[in-house]
Amino acid sequence: MAAADMPTVLLVEDEPAQREVLAYNLEAEGFRVVQAADGEEALMLVEEVAPDLLVLDWMLPNVSGIEVCRRLKMNPETRAISIIMLSARAEEVDRVRGLETGADDYVIKPYSVVELMARVRAQLRRTRPSTMGVMLEYEDIRLDTESHRVYRSDKVLKLGPTEFRLLTTFMEKPGRVWSRDQLLDRVWGRDIYVDTRTVDVHIGRLRKALSQHGGEDPLRTVRGAGYALG
Ligand code: CA
Repeated sequence: MAAADMPTVLLVEDEPAQREVLAYNLEAEGFRVVQAADGEEALMLVEEVAPDLLVLDWMLPNVSGIEVCRRLKMNPETRAISIIMLSARAEEVDRVRGLETGADDYVIKPYSVVELMARVRAQLRRTRPSTMGVMLEYEDIRLDTESHRVYRSDKVLKLGPTEFRLLTTFMEKPGRVWSRDQLLDRVWGRDIYVDTRTVDVHIGRLRKALSQHGGEDPLRTVRGAGYALG
């Protein structure tokens, strides 16, 4: 699996022993794990690694977990990132505050690691279905994320690996407009330098591949913004 296909989990916990246990378990699930020990570091790393999900402790030095959550959910660029809050305080008022802040899920300490991993998987199945072994469908196109096969009207389509990753990205969120930079991050990964024109080249190839047995071009060029499926 290429690094770009793996969900990235940002683990924010100031207690080193707990962080270590969680990092170990998240890595065992097959996720890329990035760790932060306080809220400030967490906010910085969100920009840097564009995580799919945060496991976020409530009580943190510098900037609290709840403040990190609030800021990420207020920002349109980071709003879609799933956040699972961890808290030692079980009071109902905390639970409500956690949800009002926009956290997607809430786990009370001491938690079962098995339970927490199940919650993480549930969030990622919703937001990154292609990484969780799911069949994606859009109109007459079907994409099997496990066998890496693509079908259009039940005919197998031949696709290069980059075109496959591009199509997966589009099919995860039909209708969403992706900028060239966002596609570069998602499909090629952040660590590789690729010219944005490369995106156009592969979009061209993807369009051709999708129509190899006929059918209309489902991709839309959005002037000045990027590309969308449908
Ligand atoms: Ca803490």
